[in-house]
Amino acid sequence: MIKDSGKPIVIAGPCSLESEEQLYKIVTSFNNSRVNIIRAGIWKPRTTPNSFEGIGEEGLKWIKNLKKEFDFKIAVEVGTPRHVELALKYEIDVLWIGARTTVSPFSINDIADSVKGVNIPILIKNPINPDMALWIGAVERFRNAGIRDIMAIHRGFSVNYKNKYRNLPLWSIPLRFKAQFPEIPMICDPSHISGDRKLIYEIAKKSIDLNYDGLMIEVHPNPQEALSDANQQLTPDDFLELIASLDIDKERRENTENMSRIEQIRNEIYELDNEIAVAMEERRLLENLI
Ligand code: PEP
Ligand code: MN
Repeated sequence: MIKDSGKPIVIAGPCSLESEEQLYKIVTSFNNSRVNIIRAGIWKPRTTPNSFEGIGEEGLKWIKNLKKEFDFKIAVEVGTPRHVELALKYEIDVLWIGARTTVSPFSINDIADSVKGVNIPILIKNPINPDMALWIGAVERFRNAGIRDIMAIHRGFSVNYKNKYRNLPLWSIPLRFKAQFPEIPMICDPSHISGDRKLIYEIAKKSIDLNYDGLMIEVHPNPQEALSDANQQLTPDDFLELIASLDIDKERRENTENMSRIEQIRNEIYELDNEIAVAMEERRLLENLI
């Protein structure tokens, strides 16, 4: 199990794998750091066609080559059984399911079938829409396929009203998920929640205060030039500084000792209140237009 150490899991790396040089820079800048798993998208589910859709199999070869020189674990997103087949062929350590895949029970069934009998950790992002049942359904489908090492990733939700986030966090949903599945580690992805590197610290900090089990953060050697999600990626230096300033291991010890069930429920209520307040404000703005 990836999470045996009891410490929060840190997953970091580029939105998309773009070049061998980029991968080398990321791997070497994380050497001897707090990062447990490197992330790198090989196939990108882009909203708009004709944007960069990932480097594909070529990137898996770069990963395999670099692993001969450096010792690291890496996660890639899979959206089809073919992705799974290739990821396994190149000995990728961890797979993740993207938010646009979690919404589709057909896709999840196909992917779950393709990992039957394979011993690999799977990270499941929340679905893009605020529907906890879909998220749970995906977990159950992978469990039914025999996957034991499952983690959930909170990356926020698409809503139809304007707010300061790319994907509204709606903290009450992951908190309810955590209460229902206390054995499944909950990882926060502040990069996709915020869509903006300036907001990453505050979201990451909040997730630690809520006793999350880890972070997934997008890091690129040259964020401005990134082929996807340029606004939300951090440089390796900024990322390492962020992790140091969050002091996650110390915070975690204190939180685990202090957080009672009552406090967890208070947190859920508090977050629901915030969400109601945001929705009420949006309603007021709309009403003003009539
Ligand atoms: C990603 O992790 O780069 C990604 C595409 O994320 P999501 O599925 O959360 O949109
Ligand atoms: Mn991304």
